[in-house]
Amino acid sequence: MSHTSFQEKGRTFEAEADYVVVGSGAGGATVAAQLARGGVSVAIVEAGAWRDPEHYPSSSHGAMRDLFDDWGSTIAMGRAFWPVVQARTMGGTTVINSAICVRTPGDIFEMWEKEHGVGGIEMAKKVWANQDEVERELFVTEVPVASRGRSNNLAMEGANALGYESHVIHRYAKGCVGSGQCLQGCRTGAKQSTNLNYVPEVLAKGGEVLSCAPVDKVLFDKKRRAVGVTGWFQHPKTKKWGAKFNVRAKKAVIIAASATHTPCILMRSGVKNDNLGRFFRAHPGTGVYGVYDDPVDMNIGATQGWASTAYREDPGLKLETLSIPPEMVITRLKGGGKLLMERMAEYRKMAMWIQAVRANSHGRVRNGMGGKPMVTYTLDRADMEKFVRGMHLVAKTHFAAGAKKVVPAIAGMPYSIGPDEVDKLLDAPRDPRAYVAILSHLFGGAVMGSDPTRSVVDANGKVHHYDGLYVADASALPTVLGVNPQHTIMGIAKLRAQQLLDT
Ligand SMILES: Cc1cc2nc3c(=O)[nH]c(=O)nc-3n(C[C@H](O)[C@H](O)[C@H](O)COP(=O)(O)OP(=O)(O)OC[C@H]3O[C@@H](n4cnc5c(N)ncnc54)[C@H](O)[C@@H]3O)c2cc1C
Ligand code: SF4
Repeated sequence: MSHTSFQEKGRTFEAEADYVVVGSGAGGATVAAQLARGGVSVAIVEAGAWRDPEHYPSSSHGAMRDLFDDWGSTIAMGRAFWPVVQARTMGGTTVINSAICVRTPGDIFEMWEKEHGVGGIEMAKKVWANQDEVERELFVTEVPVASRGRSNNLAMEGANALGYESHVIHRYAKGCVGSGQCLQGCRTGAKQSTNLNYVPEVLAKGGEVLSCAPVDKVLFDKKRRAVGVTGWFQHPKTKKWGAKFNVRAKKAVIIAASATHTPCILMRSGVKNDNLGRFFRAHPGTGVYGVYDDPVDMNIGATQGWASTAYREDPGLKLETLSIPPEMVITRLKGGGKLLMERMAEYRKMAMWIQAVRANSHGRVRNGMGGKPMVTYTLDRADMEKFVRGMHLVAKTHFAAGAKKVVPAIAGMPYSIGPDEVDKLLDAPRDPRAYVAILSHLFGGAVMGSDPTRSVVDANGKVHHYDGLYVADASALPTVLGVNPQHTIMGIAKLRAQQLLDT
């Protein structure tokens, strides 16, 4: 068992394993652990550093510096410029996410079968069985009553008053104490990010783990067979480049570097496929603040503890609570100086709830300077209609829960609106530039499909026309889900490992 971190320039670091997995997030760590259980040798090659919970930062600034990919500077460029949020650290985005666990809806497998020639009921059964296992392994439970906090409870009251279905969220968390710090990494170790379970399991089973090791390219033999990966270690603080590394794969290379980085690695490696980087999709979302008479203290309680999928089909929305730290709240309140301070003084009385769109719009990922993904993406008119419906629904839920006003944070709209004015939100701008949205659920870029002229990987995750090269992360998902993606990524990643072990 060995973990190798940053190596100074000098001798090339060499390693070899049956399977080399690039990335240690939801897809990478899961496929690696499942392979290791099958008795084969596995090496994980991860761009980020390995941090244990006691070394996580506590501020958003620290999270951006230590855990986010490139300080969170990747932007989806289109009509609006919206941040693409993901992590670069051992455990990937599972370290900074809210640990919400939702099974893949059956309609997704039906749609994939109909539209992409993959999926279907056979795949569904296998993925659901794998999700049963993940739920046991990662201690999935409903947010405990004591850790819910007032914001989550208010949202439930609002939804009940309006009469739509909603529920307490199930999460990959063991003993969540409701510190509202998921974005900065869970310092109590309650959140079951993959750096705490699957990656250590790979090490314990004799695997090799490289951190601070961004893969530059996949190596091929003359017959288009992937035989390993190469890159240079990078210091996590100074960003200085260190030694070169080559990690040889005796059986296969599995790329799981995320929806933005996986297509870039494949492009840099010379993989020929016109669909690489295409069909990038997301669940863009944003928050609406409700301001209540009494303190809500949104940062006390699980970061996300309430959700509704009542509008997943029509119009195509996901509603959730989300607490964010005060330094992030202030960036969304209009004004400056004394006015801004007066508005910020209401922070303790605010609850932020979000809507995220099950968007059909798709964009593209390209390789930018220095290996940084360049994302182009804009919501079309139909998706913007859903977006506006979502803002209205969240605001209505706040009022139904007793908010005295809501702060919609939309350019061109009043700073706040009262209960009698909520329908004004139906006339909110359809221009994406009016909203401060983010993209945190990312899909596509190396999509799965039976037709090599419309996809990058086949039903088994194998890159079309190449041998020994697989994809096992969000980039292979051919559509959005309308639910949180980690469980789907993990269920499919386990399936990839099972298929490889069976061959
Ligand atoms: C703030 C936030 C909250 C979220 N909350 C939830 C939630 O509650 N529930 C849910 O289901 N989903 C949630 N998500 C989404 C979920 O975390 C992602 O969908 C999931 O982690 C994606 O898995 P992945 O394996 O594709 O990529 P990631 O988990 O991002 O892993 C990719 C890994 O590859 C590494 N990598 C990148 N490039 C290279 C390279 N060149 N060489 C080596 N390694 C590389 C990265 O450093 C990273 O560790 C959230 C996302 C965010 C940003
Ligand atoms: S809310 Fe706090 S304790 Fe609970 S999982 Fe998130 S960071 Fe951990």
